[in-house]
Amino acid sequence: MTEKLFLKDSYLKEFDAIVTKIENGEVLLDRTAFYPTGGGQPSDTGFLFKDNQTFKVTDVHKLGDNVYHVTENSENLKVGDQVKGKIDWDRRYSHMRYHTALHIIDGVVFHMGNGTMTGGQIYVDKARADFDIPGLDKDKVLKILEESQKVIDEKHPIEVKFLTKEEAFKIPELARTEPGKELMKKLDTFRIVDIKDFDFQLDGGTHVKNTGEVGKIELSKYENKGSHHKRVEIILK
Ligand SMILES: [Zn+2]
Repeated sequence: MTEKLFLKDSYLKEFDAIVTKIENGEVLLDRTAFYPTGGGQPSDTGFLFKDNQTFKVTDVHKLGDNVYHVTENSENLKVGDQVKGKIDWDRRYSHMRYHTALHIIDGVVFHMGNGTMTGGQIYVDKARADFDIPGLDKDKVLKILEESQKVIDEKHPIEVKFLTKEEAFKIPELARTEPGKELMKKLDTFRIVDIKDFDFQLDGGTHVKNTGEVGKIELSKYENKGSHHKRVEIILK
C-alpha cells in the first residue's frame, strides 16, 4: 500500500520515498505526494530524483491501494532506492483551485434544493460541470456562478478531516446520491473536505485552504443537453 501524503497535505510539493516495485515502466513508492487520476481530477506530473539522476513522471494512476508513477528511464531505478519526488506545482495548484470551485458550485446548487450537479471534470485551465436542474437556463447558471463567487469572496477556510464509519453515518448529508450511499458502505475511512460555514463533502481530491484562492469564476461555455440537463464550462482568472 502507498501512503498517500496528498490526502493530509495538499500543499506538499516535495517528499522522500523508497522504491518498492517497478513494473512495466511504472514505479511504486512507499509514500507519495503525486495525486493519481481520480474523482474528476487529473494526475500530477513531475520528477523523481536519485543522486544526480532525474526521472520524469508523466502520469500517475491508482490501482487498489497503490499509486503507480509512469516514469521515463525507470530501468535505471531499482527496488530499495531512496528517491526524492517533486510535483509540478503550477499544474497541481490549478487543479486544486478548479476542484474547490466545483465543490462551491455543487454546494450552491445543493442549498438551492432544486436539482443536483451530476458530474464534473477538472482540467489544468478549465472545469466542466453537469447539472440536472428543472428549468435551468443560462441566466440561472449565471446566478449560480454569482452565488459561488460570493462564497469565494467571503474567504471561507477549508479543512480536511478524517471520520470513523460510525461518525460518518451520523451525518445524513454526507451522501447526496444513491451511488454515494452505496460507496459509503464500502469505505472504512471517511475524508471530509469542509468549506467552513458553507458546505462539506466526502472527497479524495486536493483543495486550496481558503475559498479566496479560487479567484474569479467566468462562464466559458454553456450547452443545452436536454430540458433538465445542462453542461457548463468555467475558467478561473
Ligand atoms: Zn471533489
